[in-house]
Amino acid sequence: MNESDTNSEVAIVIVGGGTAGWLTAAFLQNQLPHTLNRRVAITVIEAEDIPTVGVGEATIPSIRQTLAACGIEEHVFLKNCNATFKQGIEFINWRDDPKIAVGNSYFHPFGDQVMVAGKDATWQWLQLPEDQRAAYADQFSVQAEISKAGRAPKGFADKPFDGALAYAYHLDAGMLAQFLKNLCKRRGVRHIVQKVVEVERNGEGIAAVRLDSEERVSADIFVDCTGFAARLINSDKLNRFNNLSDVLFVDRAVATRLQNESLHDVLGYTKSTAQSAGWIWDIALQDRRGIGHVYSSRYIDDDAARAELAAYVGQPVEALETRKLDMRIGYHDQQWRGNTVAIGLSSGFLEPLESTGIYLIEMANWAMLEFIPRYLAGAQVQGHYNRILHNHYDNIADFLKLHYCLSNRRDTAFWRDNCDPSTIPQSLQANLDAWKAAVPSIYDFDRTTQCFSATNYKFVLYGMGWNGGGDPISGPADYATSMMADLLQRRSKLRDFVLRDTVPTVAYFEALQKL
Ligand SMILES: Cc1cc2nc3c(=O)[nH]c(=O)nc-3n(C[C@H](O)[C@H](O)[C@H](O)COP(=O)(O)OP(=O)(O)OC[C@H]3O[C@@H](n4cnc5c(N)ncnc54)[C@H](O)[C@@H]3O)c2cc1C
Repeated sequence: MNESDTNSEVAIVIVGGGTAGWLTAAFLQNQLPHTLNRRVAITVIEAEDIPTVGVGEATIPSIRQTLAACGIEEHVFLKNCNATFKQGIEFINWRDDPKIAVGNSYFHPFGDQVMVAGKDATWQWLQLPEDQRAAYADQFSVQAEISKAGRAPKGFADKPFDGALAYAYHLDAGMLAQFLKNLCKRRGVRHIVQKVVEVERNGEGIAAVRLDSEERVSADIFVDCTGFAARLINSDKLNRFNNLSDVLFVDRAVATRLQNESLHDVLGYTKSTAQSAGWIWDIALQDRRGIGHVYSSRYIDDDAARAELAAYVGQPVEALETRKLDMRIGYHDQQWRGNTVAIGLSSGFLEPLESTGIYLIEMANWAMLEFIPRYLAGAQVQGHYNRILHNHYDNIADFLKLHYCLSNRRDTAFWRDNCDPSTIPQSLQANLDAWKAAVPSIYDFDRTTQCFSATNYKFVLYGMGWNGGGDPISGPADYATSMMADLLQRRSKLRDFVLRDTVPTVAYFEALQKL
């Protein structure tokens, strides 16, 4: 690189002012100067008359590190984004349990599984008669118990973004975008409120975008954050979209809001309640709940979906104010092509069941941070970058499908069809075959480019009643007995530690509101 390259400015233009656009701007603005010895000028172009999707209110624990990397203070974020703590997801009615008429549930907690001297006692747990074993999440984690008891994952003395238990947030998507926008503008990000009306292509990449003011904006790197419109990368006819709607059937959502009466209404976990052709999310923020029905339009129509939502919230359907959203399920083959990277809904979307939309934005940003300096130095990075993002998407698609295809619900065609082997990805089927005789192992996954690993799979598999199969373990029975005894002891110690180091959620947010 010659001296003029080193001194020249790198222009990054982000089109789109939703969560993807502003989170990317905040992250790159704060982080790129540490990995690039050139000045970085970031511009966000946002159309005033194209609304953001306005949902995306549950996150997973990686968000803490990402917000910290944006140079954000946790308490400021919590206050400004109406945010609360999330410690996992409770799945209700996802299976048909003849022993329980309605309301069967299991918990997918964040955080590690409780181990015994580094060893997994799942196999020993599976050997116990079903009526003698506690629910998997209650045996191998304390988080369901702690969050259901209304405790926060941390105490007042904990460092920002840290706590006794792993956690993420529930947040107001509109407030998050506004909060990040204000932060970015204060830090020097240029903001243009205009619509991109034309994309001037230059081979694989983009030379410039033209705005409705006629202004022509060029850049070294363009980031497409235009949501499902994918305004920049759709101009590239060679960028194939991998449609996954034959695997993940839901393609629509209808969403509403309910005011909380007090902080006592704030649950520290997302509730996901299965319906006839999808499921309902229930997310508690400090002063309201966001509730939405995600469904498959192949199986029920919008009126039926609204009726199920109305029944869930206990309101007459005519009185319910709702917003309808369409979802395109799948992802673009080339998330990075030429000088253009797609991030957020423009790059793809895999339905919100495990709250991975914002996670994928984060992962794209962390990867870009590594690859932008190499790209600017002339290296070929797009193949590598795209493989990483494909790994993320495929891992998430498998994990989401797991929730559906494990279900023994046969009451509607939606649930029956979800178990059709032709709709199950081969990678998931291969794992399920292996896990008939063995417990999921860390060796089944690549943690660096895959969000969901053995621990997550175990909470869902055994929460859904998967029995593993295979022969009972050989070896001395007293080994299994002592493993289970050790497990109970470790869990009990962990529980005492967590109870000592955490405070009730209500107390945490009352204190926060006084700041
Ligand atoms: C029903 C549903 C539920 C979801 N739930 C979750 C969840 O719980 N957790 C989670 O992590 N994710 C969730 N997601 C995903 C999450 O909402 C998105 O990943 C996130 O909001 C990012 O959206 P975005 O910024 O990519 O797009 P958008 O919010 O759609 O923003 C697009 C932006 O592009 C601008 N724009 C569009 N065209 C142009 C143009 N021509 N010129 C200039 N600007 C333009 C618009 O003005 C807007 O500012 C959910 C998504 C859906 C559909």
